[in-house]
Amino acid sequence: METRKKLPLATQIFIALVLGIIAGLLLQSHADFADSYIKPIGTIFLNLLKFIVVPIVLFSIMAGIISMSDIRKVGSIGIKTVCYYLCTTAVAIVIGLVGGNLFKGFFPILETSELSYEASEGIPFMDTVVNIFPSNFIAPLSEATMLQVIVMALLIGFAIILVGDEAAPAVKGINSFNAIFMKCMEMILKLSPIGVFCLICPVVATNGAAIIGSLAMVLLAAYICYFMHMLIVYSFAVKVMGGMSPLAFLKGQLPAMIFAFSSSSSVGTLPINMKGCEKMGADKEVTSFVLPLGATINMDGTAIYQGVCAIFIAACYGIHLTPSQMVTIVLTATLASIGTAGVPGAGMVMLAMVLASVGLPLDGIALVAGVDRIFDMGRTVVNITGDASCALIVSNLERKKAAKKAS
Ligand code: ASP
Repeated sequence: METRKKLPLATQIFIALVLGIIAGLLLQSHADFADSYIKPIGTIFLNLLKFIVVPIVLFSIMAGIISMSDIRKVGSIGIKTVCYYLCTTAVAIVIGLVGGNLFKGFFPILETSELSYEASEGIPFMDTVVNIFPSNFIAPLSEATMLQVIVMALLIGFAIILVGDEAAPAVKGINSFNAIFMKCMEMILKLSPIGVFCLICPVVATNGAAIIGSLAMVLLAAYICYFMHMLIVYSFAVKVMGGMSPLAFLKGQLPAMIFAFSSSSSVGTLPINMKGCEKMGADKEVTSFVLPLGATINMDGTAIYQGVCAIFIAACYGIHLTPSQMVTIVLTATLASIGTAGVPGAGMVMLAMVLASVGLPLDGIALVAGVDRIFDMGRTVVNITGDASCALIVSNLERKKAAKKAS
């Protein structure tokens, strides 16, 4: 990103965030205006990101696999990545459950008769598995079904390696398209300060201070858990396995965090997260594989949110959760977070699956639905930070492995 005498993009995004919040507070009594005229500009920006994200995921994963030119290397990175993602997600839910329990005394027992929330039916587990595999070449691309796009990219990438010489023109073509779409992405990212301003302003204008007040405790519990997870789990992992100072990591991660906070979309934040990780020293071949996968399946913030909200909803209905129910929550929330799409609001839909698994009333979602966006902003920050920590750790481990082999 060019910096010629201009403020760095990260600073621009930060300023845009602060200005957006101030403008939102000022516009509280004109929330309609913010919704009708400012939000659409944010939507245009999000649309551009959505447009770019499918080709980025497709080509960057293919290019990443091809560049490794060795199926064993892809396997080694893949196994490390998936293990890290699953373990950190399980820890995240435990933190969410502990945090929720610590705050339980502050949660109100509510009059629940007026609640209504159209919870969508949880999708059966096996259907979720089946849905990962595409049955059509075009549909996953046009509908942006990210898990299916990833499967396509993996299949084609492996096939190219196996075909060998005959696939040389395809390798060239894929690398060239990858470069082109990366350039497009860079152009779109230059607009991110405007995008951030226009996304955050209407959120603040409509949610205002009042609604936050009534749910302050559960929000506080979730945010404390988000921070704990980032400060303890990621910092420790990055330090021990990534050989990097946690402070340098969090600092380098800041632009992506701010972006995630305002967009509430892991997938939308993917381009900026990739850039940030490469700047912090992650290998391109690793980021191009680990980050798109993480933006799709690794949602630690969402897992924390599901843990805290399950406890909150149980408390509001005066239900006491048993330890075995908590274990069930850990298992289902891990699966639910994998199935959560990296777009705004997706985690709340998956909360239904977690509540249903332990027989909690789905109507309870109505309690948190009003402030879901505020939960979402924080959980998305955690989601993408988890992906980034994984990219740095796997890069470091692979580098060490290569050095060991060479010596
Ligand atoms: N908005 C979150 C994300 O994109 C997903 C969620 O709703 O939990 O990472």
